Amino acid sequence: MTSERNSPARKVYLDHSATTPVRAEVLSVMLPFFAQAFGNASSVHRWGREARVGVETAREKVAYLLGAEPSEIVFTSGGTEADNLALRSTARLLRSKGNHIITTTVEHHAVLHTCQILEKEGYEVTYLPVDEYGMVSVESVIEAIRPETILISVMHGQNEVGTIQPVEEIGRVAKEKGILLHTDAVQSAGKVPLKVRDLGVDLMSISSHKMYGPKGIGALYVRKGIKMAPQITGGAHERGRRAGTENVAGIVGFGEACYLAERELAEESRRLTALRDRLISGILERIPDTVLNGHPSKRLPHNVNVSIKYVEGESILLNLDRMGIGASSGSACTSGSLEPSHVLLAMGVPHEVAHGSIRMTLGRMNTVEDIDYVLEVLPPIVSRLREMSPFSAPAASETSGGGRNNVQ
Ligand SMILES: *Cc1c(COP(=O)(O)O)cnc(C)c1O
Repeated sequence: MTSERNSPARKVYLDHSATTPVRAEVLSVMLPFFAQAFGNASSVHRWGREARVGVETAREKVAYLLGAEPSEIVFTSGGTEADNLALRSTARLLRSKGNHIITTTVEHHAVLHTCQILEKEGYEVTYLPVDEYGMVSVESVIEAIRPETILISVMHGQNEVGTIQPVEEIGRVAKEKGILLHTDAVQSAGKVPLKVRDLGVDLMSISSHKMYGPKGIGALYVRKGIKMAPQITGGAHERGRRAGTENVAGIVGFGEACYLAERELAEESRRLTALRDRLISGILERIPDTVLNGHPSKRLPHNVNVSIKYVEGESILLNLDRMGIGASSGSACTSGSLEPSHVLLAMGVPHEVAHGSIRMTLGRMNTVEDIDYVLEVLPPIVSRLREMSPFSAPAASETSGGGRNNVQ
C-alpha cells in the first residue's frame, strides 16, 4: 500500500491470522542452519548429522505442543500442504472402504477446494452447514455419517470469525464409528490447548508462520498406525510420507516457535482474550449498527470480526491503513475480489452486511494502548464513511444509540 508517505501516530499490526513476524528467539536458532550447519539431513557425515539433529530436535518440540510422539509429526511446506496431504492421502488409501467425506461450509480454501477436486474424481462430499455463530453441530455430523464415510474434516478455530468448533465431541463420534477425523488447527495452534489425544483426532494440520515461525513450513500430525500415501513423491524423507530435502532452517525455527508457544500458552491466551474483549466491547459501544461475527465465547483469543453496517469493509481498511493500522476484510485470500466471505454467507449474514465486515487479529506485540488507539481512530472513520455512503445510513452517527432505520 502507499501509506509510507505519511507517518501515522502509531503502527498497529492487527492481521496475525494472515501471518505473524518471526520471533527474535526463533530467528536466532535458525541462523546457524543456513551457512554453517547447512548439511543435507540425509547425509551420513558430520554436516548431515548436524542438520539431522536440528530436524529431530524440532520434531520433538512440535510433538510437545500437540502432546504427540515425534514419529507422528510429518513436516510439510505449510498448512495448505498439510490439509492436502490429510485429505488426498485418506481419500486414496481408503477408496476401497468408501468414497464419502464430511466437512463444513466454513473450512479454509485449502480444505474446501481440495474437497471440490476430490468430488470431480468421484468422491462424495457433505458440506455441513453452520449456525449464526459459524458453529457446526455434532448432531449434523452424526446425521451425515454413511456406511461409506471415510473421513471427517472439521477445522478447530475458524480463521475469519474465530469460532472454535466442537472437535472433541466430534472426535468421540468419529472414534465410535471408526471414521478418521482430521482437523485444520492452523489458527488454534499456540492459542488454545491442542492435545491430540484429548481431542481424539487422527490428523491435524498446523502452520509455522501463523505462530511466529518462518513461512513455508508446517506439519501434519498423523496418529501412529495410520498409513499415508505421499502426495509429493521422491526420496524416503519423513518416513516415506513426504519426499524432498528437508527445509532444515525452517523446521528448526518452527520447532522453536512451537516450544515457545506451548510454554507461554496459558498466560498469552489470557492476555489476548482480555485485549480481544476490550476491542469488541469498545467497538460495539462506540459505533452504532455494528454486530460481532462469530461465537461470543467459544472463540479464538486473538480474533475480532465485526460487521459495520452501511460501509464497505475495504474502505475502512484503507482508512485504517492510513492511520497505521493493519486489518483485513473477509479472508486475506478473497479480499481483492468483491465476493463477500463464504464464511459470513454460510452463517446467514446478509450480503450487504458481510461487505462491511472487518477482521482484526491480535498478537504478541499488541498492547492495551494499541487497542485504545484503534478505538479512538475507528469511530470517526466510520462516521465519515457513513456520511458519504449511498446506502440509507443513520443521519448523524455520533449521536449513538443506533437502532432506527433497520435496513437489512
Ligand atoms: C493460513 C491457514 C492455512 C494455510 O496455511 P499456510 O501455511 O499459509 O499454507 C490453512 N488453514 C487455515 C485455517 C489457515 O488460517
